[in-house]
Amino acid sequence: KTVCVTGGSGFIASWLVKLLLQRGCTVKASVRDPNDPKKVEHLLALDGAKDRLHLFKANLLEEGSFDEAIDGCDGVFHTASPFHNPTSDPEAELIDPALKGTLNVLRSCAKAPSVKRVVLTSSVAAVICNDRPRTPDVIVDETWWSLPDFCRENKMWYVLSKTLAEEAAWKFVQEKGIDMVVINPAMVIGPLLQPTLNTSAAAILNLVNGAETFPNLTFGWVDVRDVATAHILAFENPEANGRYCLVESVAHQSKIVKILGDLYPSIKFPEKCANDNPLAPEYQVSKERAKSLGLEFTPLKQSLKDTVESLKEKNFLT
Ligand code: NDP
Repeated sequence: KTVCVTGGSGFIASWLVKLLLQRGCTVKASVRDPNDPKKVEHLLALDGAKDRLHLFKANLLEEGSFDEAIDGCDGVFHTASPFHNPTSDPEAELIDPALKGTLNVLRSCAKAPSVKRVVLTSSVAAVICNDRPRTPDVIVDETWWSLPDFCRENKMWYVLSKTLAEEAAWKFVQEKGIDMVVINPAMVIGPLLQPTLNTSAAAILNLVNGAETFPNLTFGWVDVRDVATAHILAFENPEANGRYCLVESVAHQSKIVKILGDLYPSIKFPEKCANDNPLAPEYQVSKERAKSLGLEFTPLKQSLKDTVESLKEKNFLT
């Protein structure tokens, strides 16, 4: 099979490219700058890359940029989307590349008759951010949708970017008759293949590198290897459809600090919460659909250990 991975050098995409090559696929990966060694060297070093990895230069904001990478592919994994805190202009930095970029990629898919299925990397960010209460007895599932107005009111720009992109993608594929499956992971951690620090791994690095306090935040967590595997299962299983939330466990940052402290007693972790508000409540996210794909989750403790080991190995620890 020949497949395209957009944003191939990213944290999740690098694992996806690795596992697709391992499965014998020919991979056409798009990157913004194929001449930047930090973006491509780790991909070119993967097993099978020499024979079956092809790099293409593409930018989400350039119309038609992905045509060449997508042409002739059986499947397209659209992972590229900015994930960082915007500096000044959320529209230009996050929302345009997510929303216009997703439609740009889907238009290239619509032009390529070879494409049988698109797997879109959305996020639980597009699922959970609305006015419904989240408490320990609430089970969030794939029927939930984040509300754009709620995101705007709370200035949750990344969440808004993912919500608008996924909404627009569903509308587009329904109009054009494209087969799409969506993966909605929570905070993704685990070993880094790329040499640069991505946003979700940075959340763990921050705790390990001597932060005074931990944020008063509760997130779902999932391992990057499981996220990559879920994308492949969603592509390979003809029965796969709709959205798949990927959350191994939901845990407040205080719990993450506790697990890390047990794993690394010699490291000093923050003991205090960043504010005096009640701790952001935990909730549950349904694993039923993810398990129906055949996915088995790596336990959170293992993912945290592998994240820290990887951050150490790449010299991110101060
Ligand atoms: P990374 O920052 O590692 O990867 C983001 C990728 O998007 C990079 O390859 C980047 O390319 C690409 N990209 C950003 N802007 C553009 C643009 N204008 N044109 C082309 N490519 C662009 O993050 P992750 O691997 O974590 O994220 C990958 C996907 O997973 C995203 O869609 C993200 O929203 C989603 N996700 C991530 C979660 C997480 O916790 N990590 C959780 C849930 C969803 P370049 O290398 O050139 O910068």
